[in-house]
Amino acid sequence: MFKAILINKDDSGYQCQLTEVDEAQLPEGDVLVEVEYSTLNYKDGLAITGKSPVVRRFPMVAGIDFSGKVIESQHPNFAPGDDVILNGWGVGETHWGGLAERACVKGDWLIKRPASLSSQDAMAIGTAGYTAMLCVQAIQRAGVTPESGPVLVTGANGGVGSFALRILQRLGYEAWASTGRMDEAEHLKAIGATDVIDRAELSEPGRPLQAERWAAAIDSVGSHTLANVCAQIKWGGAVAACGLAQGMDFPSTVAPFILRGVTLYGVDSVMQPVAMREQAWAALAEIFNEESLAQITEVIPFEQAIPAAHDLLAGKIRGRVAVKIK
Ligand code: NDP
Repeated sequence: MFKAILINKDDSGYQCQLTEVDEAQLPEGDVLVEVEYSTLNYKDGLAITGKSPVVRRFPMVAGIDFSGKVIESQHPNFAPGDDVILNGWGVGETHWGGLAERACVKGDWLIKRPASLSSQDAMAIGTAGYTAMLCVQAIQRAGVTPESGPVLVTGANGGVGSFALRILQRLGYEAWASTGRMDEAEHLKAIGATDVIDRAELSEPGRPLQAERWAAAIDSVGSHTLANVCAQIKWGGAVAACGLAQGMDFPSTVAPFILRGVTLYGVDSVMQPVAMREQAWAALAEIFNEESLAQITEVIPFEQAIPAAHDLLAGKIRGRVAVKIK
């Protein structure tokens, strides 16, 4: 038996509890992992509270990411004792996830944890930090360098946004934050923002082309914000879009793309090929260490994960939450 956050849906409704599960019920996979840490992402909050149909199969073990140690492996790349990380691949949605003492997954989904990051560090970074790095690497591939000019980060107080600010600053970029919480401006400057703008400047319908302001942007907001951001990108610049905090719509025109050569990169962390994951995690390991991550992370015991997920959706949590599974 092992402990897991199990989600069920039947005639009596949606239930989520920390409970004992029989190891024989684990889904098919060629690697068995002892999970050491998981984390709480927005998606986990939705799954645990049942506020959105994130979970596609029942019963489901929650947790879209984890770090842990391989116990058994039939996969050629992994052996017992290996330290591994998993992000995405539908884990916690269609395949049993990481908020559990055991996970059985496809070896093709795993990457080896960089040696300089502890298991706790990896989940302090979590899917938010990994997605932020994928976004930064996308604008780098577009040729945007620190000399190109300022880079705007929207949803700056969020998990992805705050990691994007930290990464950009460490790489020498002038990062600007867009936020709805202007009272957090000093905090945003402390973690890497050169300056802060009110997200209200971007959230309403705007003109298709506006004054060229940013060399690039990292957007976790979507909707009018993304459209206005694209309209403000300098000639030849790039936008990495990964989120929909404002909305799924994208009410833009082709003007920024055909008149200013702007590139819009879509970033999907879930199905990202392994080589790109490894690059992102290697780059994260160069930037973050135990000390820098400890400042932004609260480590909670497994027993507190469900109440903390409710707090997360209620906007009561600032910074990262790493869930210590054992
Ligand atoms: P968080 O909830 O931590 O942060 C989202 C931030 O967006 C908020 O902190 C807020 O920032 C801003 N925001 C919220 N509502 C609005 C609104 N109505 N209008 C404008 N801004 C708003 O989420 P994450 O950072 O974890 O994720 C951000 C987005 O990225 C989500 O949509 C998530 O689903 C997506 N995502 C996508 C991934 C992918 O693979 N593509 C992976 C991970 C996340 P502030 O207070 O500063 O304004």
